[in-house]
Amino acid sequence: MDLSLSDKHRALQDEVRAFVREHGHKSPKLGGGRKRPDQKTRDWQKLLVDNGYVGRTIPREYGGFGAAPDVLEAAVIASEFAAAGIYAGMTNQGISMLVPTLLEVGTEEQRKQWVEKTIRGDVIWCQGYSEPGAGSDLASLTTRGVLQDGHWVIDGQKIWTSSAHYADMMFLLCRTEPDKPKHEGISYLLLSMKTPGIEVRPLRTMTGRAEFNEVFFTDVRVPEHQIVLGRGKGWYVANVTLKHERSMIGNAEKMTTRLEQLIALLKANGLLGVAEYRDRLLKLQGEVIAWKAHNLRLLTEAAQGVDSGVKRMIVKYGGTMLGFRLASLAIDALGTAGLPFESAGEDAEDDDATTWNIDYLYDVGLMIGGGSNNIQKNIIAERGLDLPREPKVARA
Ligand SMILES: Cc1cc2nc3c(=O)[nH]c(=O)nc-3n(C[C@H](O)[C@H](O)[C@H](O)COP(=O)(O)OP(=O)(O)OC[C@H]3O[C@@H](n4cnc5c(N)ncnc54)[C@H](O)[C@@H]3O)c2cc1C
Repeated sequence: MDLSLSDKHRALQDEVRAFVREHGHKSPKLGGGRKRPDQKTRDWQKLLVDNGYVGRTIPREYGGFGAAPDVLEAAVIASEFAAAGIYAGMTNQGISMLVPTLLEVGTEEQRKQWVEKTIRGDVIWCQGYSEPGAGSDLASLTTRGVLQDGHWVIDGQKIWTSSAHYADMMFLLCRTEPDKPKHEGISYLLLSMKTPGIEVRPLRTMTGRAEFNEVFFTDVRVPEHQIVLGRGKGWYVANVTLKHERSMIGNAEKMTTRLEQLIALLKANGLLGVAEYRDRLLKLQGEVIAWKAHNLRLLTEAAQGVDSGVKRMIVKYGGTMLGFRLASLAIDALGTAGLPFESAGEDAEDDDATTWNIDYLYDVGLMIGGGSNNIQKNIIAERGLDLPREPKVARA
């Protein structure tokens, strides 16, 4: 097998290196995140979009770069950014989840209205799925949407809604067909977070910061056309989005960047030569390389229109566990700076130790967010490996 790059890909590599030399100093700091992106991050995002390093295969009419899908191009760009230790662009619920959903099942009008603004970082989205009584069993959700005078009137409550306290828009699941079986009665709506009747109450996590929220809806009116795919089709759309959410959470490039940061930390703390640390690092390095190869395989299959089945289903579980173990080694390497800490406020500029601490604590949450890892194991077993289904517990 010839693993060398073709002329076309070598030329791209040179181009990205030149870009990094010229613009790398403008990159925001790596890690952390989960705050409303600041001006520096949004300016950097626009530069990446304009140069085709973000939204590369999104058609030009929706604000992307319009390149044909090419797995190696994506890999070259990602590895040059990771090696240079610079920020490869925003990953959030709008860019990584809603945009691919609209490209797959949205109307032309919805794509034109939202894709460009979202990938450029001008519109931030949040995801209104979970409710107090509907998390793992999401299809039990009860937030209502009733059609009245050309508007969906929404009443109910969402919970664990990441970034709702600063998001501009929400993609929301609500029950619009109460008489239908539960999976068939759900619709997927797009709404502004400024709509009257929405109340957001932040919830503080163990990072010490408010990263997700409770969101209450009282007679919230959403124009009828802001539905994706149609009445009662929300469960299908929700699963398109979840597929992208799980890929985002288990993202291989994030692991590569984190590995580079970890190596730098071990070097700085004089631990690279210490057998115990070196041994753990080498094992993790091997896993990151395997994870990257797995990602390339998935990208190849996606470009060929092949359903990757169980290979895709393992991404969220495997990625969150690997990310957590990378952060765990960093916490051990930090010594006393890695002990439980008092986080500064939301707007504080984080130093490296704080960023690792926050990433480490947040990673525990990622094992639950996007469908808990227990549920992921059920999905892998039942839908991926055809093992017998889990017995249903009889309701009292
Ligand atoms: C950091 C973070 C960010 C989040 N962001 C969002 C967001 O932006 N928008 C949004 O809508 N939601 C969000 N969530 C919510 C998340 O999707 C839910 O927490 C998750 O789906 C689990 O639901 P639950 O919390 O109701 O737990 P439950 O469903 O009540 O589960 C409780 C426990 O039981 C286990 N369990 C449940 N059923 C089974 C089963 N059949 N087999 C084995 N174990 C089972 C679960 O694994 C879990 O450990 C976020 C959560 C976290 C932690």
